[in-house]
Amino acid sequence: MVAAASGAVRRNVAACVAAAALFAGGCGGATPAADSAPAPAGTTPAVQTPTGGPSDSPSPSARSSGRSLAGAVVALDPGHNGGNGAHPEIINRQVDAGTLEKACDTTGAETNAGYAEAAFAFDVAKRLARRLRARGIRVVLTRKTNSGVGPCITRRAAIGNRANADAALSIHADGGPAGGRGFHVIEPASIPGYTAAIAPASHRLALRIRSAFRAGTGQPYATYIGSAGLDTRDDLGGLNLSTVPKIFVECGNIRNATDAARLSDPAFRERVAAALETGLVRFLRKHTE
Ligand SMILES: [Zn+2]
Repeated sequence: MVAAASGAVRRNVAACVAAAALFAGGCGGATPAADSAPAPAGTTPAVQTPTGGPSDSPSPSARSSGRSLAGAVVALDPGHNGGNGAHPEIINRQVDAGTLEKACDTTGAETNAGYAEAAFAFDVAKRLARRLRARGIRVVLTRKTNSGVGPCITRRAAIGNRANADAALSIHADGGPAGGRGFHVIEPASIPGYTAAIAPASHRLALRIRSAFRAGTGQPYATYIGSAGLDTRDDLGGLNLSTVPKIFVECGNIRNATDAARLSDPAFRERVAAALETGLVRFLRKHTE
């Protein structure tokens, strides 16, 4: 994500691209990859299409442990992918994001030292998946490595939908203005024909995650976007196309020195995973009872 006008629902790709140019940002939706690195002939990988496997299922011991959340399903969507930047011909392809057409995926942001948002998001997702599975929760990931390309935002939403997830969480770090810091949660606007059915539950999920994230990580609410750690958007395909409760969490501003140092620290990423686990569990206990 990149910063735009504080609190504003962004409605056009051009504005986001312009902001991305200013902040070298990641933007969960609209930063096209540089088109200066064409793939060598014959090496273009297919857009990553993860499939379910044995690791997606709770272990027999977890399933039989009688914990109340066994059987719940969570879709985790680590933003971007490590190979996106090298394959603009794939990720810049325009897809139908519901309310608009936009790029299949984006490159994501990175720290000045070169720690990429895609790597951050994937590491947090792995840590969080481990924690949730230990509770008997079934976890579906939208990508299983950080070396592939994509998948497109359309497929990221479809994976959560197909799993009939009780909650879906897209994990990012923002590429905002260097002077701003903090985290924010993005919830879907209520759009008739798209998100109207999931908006109320997504809002409840957003509130649980916001509360647990602030308490568990000590991160302040974002100073440069949203309001009290919440933003509402209608231009993100990953939200527009979801049929299950879904939010994005922007864990910090990877372009800010203070946040970048935290996001680059494995111990902090474990705190992030623990906080997200707490928020998800609180939501699931209400949602599935
Ligand atoms: Zn992002």
